[in-house]
Amino acid sequence: MQLIYEKSTPGRNGVRLPASDVPAAAALPESLLRTEAAGLPEVSELDLVRHFTILSQRNFSVDTNFYPLGSCTMKYNAKVLENAAALFAPFHPMTALLPQGAACCQGTLGMLYDLGQMLADITGMDEVTTQPLAGAHGEMTGIMLISAYHKAKGNKKKYVLVPDSSHGTNPASAAMAGYEIITVPTAPYGDMDLELFKKAMNSEVAAVMMTCPNTLGLFNPHIKEISDIAHSHDALMYYDGANLNAIMGKVKPGDVGFDVVHVNLHKTFGTPHGGGGPGAGPVGVKKSLIPFLPQPRIVMDGEGQFLLETANQLSIGRTANFFGNFGVMVKAYAYIIMLGRQGLIQVSEQAVLNANYIKEKLKAYYDVPYDMTCMHECVFSASKQLAHGVHAIDIAKYLIDKGYHPPTVYFPMIVKEAIMIEPTETESKATMDAFIQVMIEAAQVAETDPQALHDAPLTMPIGRLDETKAAREQNVCCQW
Ligand SMILES: *Cc1c(COP(=O)(O)O)cnc(C)c1O
Repeated sequence: MQLIYEKSTPGRNGVRLPASDVPAAAALPESLLRTEAAGLPEVSELDLVRHFTILSQRNFSVDTNFYPLGSCTMKYNAKVLENAAALFAPFHPMTALLPQGAACCQGTLGMLYDLGQMLADITGMDEVTTQPLAGAHGEMTGIMLISAYHKAKGNKKKYVLVPDSSHGTNPASAAMAGYEIITVPTAPYGDMDLELFKKAMNSEVAAVMMTCPNTLGLFNPHIKEISDIAHSHDALMYYDGANLNAIMGKVKPGDVGFDVVHVNLHKTFGTPHGGGGPGAGPVGVKKSLIPFLPQPRIVMDGEGQFLLETANQLSIGRTANFFGNFGVMVKAYAYIIMLGRQGLIQVSEQAVLNANYIKEKLKAYYDVPYDMTCMHECVFSASKQLAHGVHAIDIAKYLIDKGYHPPTVYFPMIVKEAIMIEPTETESKATMDAFIQVMIEAAQVAETDPQALHDAPLTMPIGRLDETKAAREQNVCCQW
């Protein structure tokens, strides 16, 4: 494909600009004026439309291809949810913050309040703030709440404890909030080692941050014992609920001892993601943490009116404007209402069934380092293929040629040559069967023609990149 600059023809133009209406007095100082023309491509409207349309078709998306990227929940999100968000656009809570105050947008505040209540019910928490704008932002907010809780109690706390299989954002958020990290290794049974956890636990631990099921897709059977031990040291339990489709309607984190939970609305609750679009990471807390929640906080008075609490000195303050990403909240609200309690349970059951189906079908071909019934995702290792010089990355690149987005590779880091597959609940058996077939084929090619895997991808505009060079010599400028 030609670059847009290569299509440039001097004098060609796709726009007709109106005469400038900026007063000459507003002109920039001489020193700031450009001395050479900007060198923009000179193209027609049609050239430009073709350029961007071709680029858009190069996107790999859930709407075009199977996208089993583990830990990311790249499921299909119904288009009707976008309609719901569009419908609510005129009711953005910006109006609530105008001088008229909360009285003028009771419907909007009510919707946000109800969504908070529904998420609190799903996670087993007492109250939810919708403010955080992403999962990592939710973690940061959650750890700040925990920090405020300990400060108010006069607790001297220094550490946050995380398992070594944790999502990288967990230790990063805890470190950003000022804590030192203690990492606990994974036991051969695939979960945080209980004995090592007991040894690591001490009275200076502020919180234990866990993903359950963890990034190996396994639900921790000792979770209640872990939270009891943590609580005996007045440490709080943080639940990373980014991928809630593993347990929704089945287990409430609050019931197994968690005190703080974030959920990713852009993974589980109706908002597509992956293109850097807006997400949301609402945070739920148990009663003891409610006083510290971000403000303005939506509360209901005795008459069913929604008010904004803004003057609580214990609050960690505002973490985002407009109660978070409003459009994403609308989609989550519509998603939960649309599916209902039974529907949400079915989502989890299907997500777990699909992941186990793929695990069972592929385990004769790929090593499964922790071979147990998994939850919403399964983790293989390409260690068998390594004997032929084939790495996880080679299989990932081969899948691109076959029309599949690669699974997550080399994560979780505790698995050598990890291949982490999350089919999600929205894929059909036929789609999974076709994918399984290609994965089997890749395992066979690894034995018979490893070079073919090293050469992939061959069907893409760009072939295999030197990833080490790209990481070491980052150049994000446009130099072709
Ligand atoms: C995606 C994910 C996160 C981070 O969420 P962002 O919205 O990308 O910040 C955290 N933990 C887990 C387990 C995740 O899968």
